[in-house]
Amino acid sequence: MGCLALNASFEPLTLVPPRRAIRLVLDQKAEILEVDRARRFRSEREEIPWPTVIRLVRFVHVPRRFRRQVTNTFLFARDDYSCQYCGRHHRELRGRQFLTRDHVLPVSRGGENHWTNVVTACSPCNNQKGNLTPEEARMPLLSDPREPNYVHLVWAVRRVTPSQARYIKLFYGEEVLQAVQGL
Ligand SMILES: [Zn+2]
Repeated sequence: MGCLALNASFEPLTLVPPRRAIRLVLDQKAEILEVDRARRFRSEREEIPWPTVIRLVRFVHVPRRFRRQVTNTFLFARDDYSCQYCGRHHRELRGRQFLTRDHVLPVSRGGENHWTNVVTACSPCNNQKGNLTPEEARMPLLSDPREPNYVHLVWAVRRVTPSQARYIKLFYGEEVLQAVQGL
């Protein structure tokens, strides 16, 4: 289980290995907010609490480019692992069908690999749509593709403890927490 690292602003950033979290604390780059009382780190001289949530002392700027990167892992999570044309969840796919990244405006026609132009599509729908737009293919989209909230990108594929979840809720609100936990 990783340690949740918060920015100085309390924005949840990422999970870091507990040993790295300890290093940040010992270097006075972070403070411990929550610990796992059942576990402790032992060094030669002292015992250190096992951090589950730390907060960076200085604000770290998170580059926009990283936030905007499209990967299938996060794309499928954003779309709830469902084809945005036929609505089938990946559990409902048959045989050799699989989820794919579909460019709403095809790349061959100038479509960009950006969050607002990519959706999750099952392989049959992607093949059927081919080089057409949804309108041309008469395959209306079930949702408007949007750039996901950063918290979705980071947490979509991870498990957080209840105490870590509290900090996500604190920063992003109940709605985002529920969306993240529902994935
Ligand atoms: Zn489909």
